[in-house]
Amino acid sequence: MNSFDKIKAYLSSYDGPDVHIMEVCGTHTASIAKNGIPAMLSPHIRLISGPGCPVCVTVTDYIDRLIALSQNEKNVICSFGDLLRVPGSESSLSLARADGAHIEMVYSPVQMLDKARRDPDHDYIFAAVGFETTAPVYALLIDEAERLGIPNVKLLTGLKTMPQVIRWVVSSAKSAGETTEREDKSDEGRIDGFLAPGHVCAVTGYGEYEKLAAETGMPFVVSGFTGPQLIASIFRLVQLRGKDTCENLYPEVVSRSGNAPAKSAVKKYFEPCDAAWRGMGIIPMSGLCLRQDYMHRDAGSFGLTGDHAGRGCRCASVLTGKIRPTECPLFGKACTPQNPNGACMVSQEGSCYNWYVGGRTR
Ligand code: SF4
Repeated sequence: MNSFDKIKAYLSSYDGPDVHIMEVCGTHTASIAKNGIPAMLSPHIRLISGPGCPVCVTVTDYIDRLIALSQNEKNVICSFGDLLRVPGSESSLSLARADGAHIEMVYSPVQMLDKARRDPDHDYIFAAVGFETTAPVYALLIDEAERLGIPNVKLLTGLKTMPQVIRWVVSSAKSAGETTEREDKSDEGRIDGFLAPGHVCAVTGYGEYEKLAAETGMPFVVSGFTGPQLIASIFRLVQLRGKDTCENLYPEVVSRSGNAPAKSAVKKYFEPCDAAWRGMGIIPMSGLCLRQDYMHRDAGSFGLTGDHAGRGCRCASVLTGKIRPTECPLFGKACTPQNPNGACMVSQEGSCYNWYVGGRTR
């Protein structure tokens, strides 16, 4: 038996104290499902999908605001495809588009530059959602628009950053009394360690996750995205249970200090600000907003309100590990990928989507 087979055998037969591991990257969520990892693990190891899917954490108010902007004939809204199907309070971007609103799906924000240059009579507004990984792309968009003198390129920013929401999730779990010290309690919301987001850490570095480990008393392991990489990271988290340490198992891509040019581009155009999270409300300094010098590029991003998803959706409880997707009464009935009721069923990185498509039961 080689060492990888030994790791798999250890994880499948593990019978020590329960270990609840949260991943906070949508690509991890999708890869865990695609590789069938939950079925390889002992029942004492539970994987929880946290708030790492950008579409899933986007608030209804943001979708409503995009729809309102799209109904002004001076505007053209550009967005990645996933966001189009997220329900707002009354409609979605795809329904608004079917009704004639100016909404276009693009594969890259930079595609929008050319459209804006050729059509100076309209403001082109990009639905700028995502995490630290995507922020450099929006910085590049604004950089190019400034350099080329294209005034009609704007952002509606819903950008978010990881560290503050991780603090929020840990604090929420602890305030519910569901910490590792309380084995006698139900496991609702309990977290024993984190798979740190490999893509985010490639930009920011993992230094911030060393701080989080020290602050929270939990282990963090920076992981790659293949099945074997994820299995190795889960193995380390089980071994590190109860330790306040951060390990980088993705050194070929992630360094402690991160990608200096990308960080510098983001810092030039954006600054930390409060952000609205689906189901979690406003989390201070957990977002990125355009700096004052570039406010002429903002399409009205401020003052978004947090929400609890509405329409009977339990996304908020799913994203904080309080329930499994299958425990939502609408899962697979009134909410499917073909007819999503909530954002977590829309995105291919969403927890509900992956549980439904992968037939996951635990
Ligand atoms: Fe929301 Fe649908 Fe998931 Fe239920 S199954 S939590 S309605 S996205």
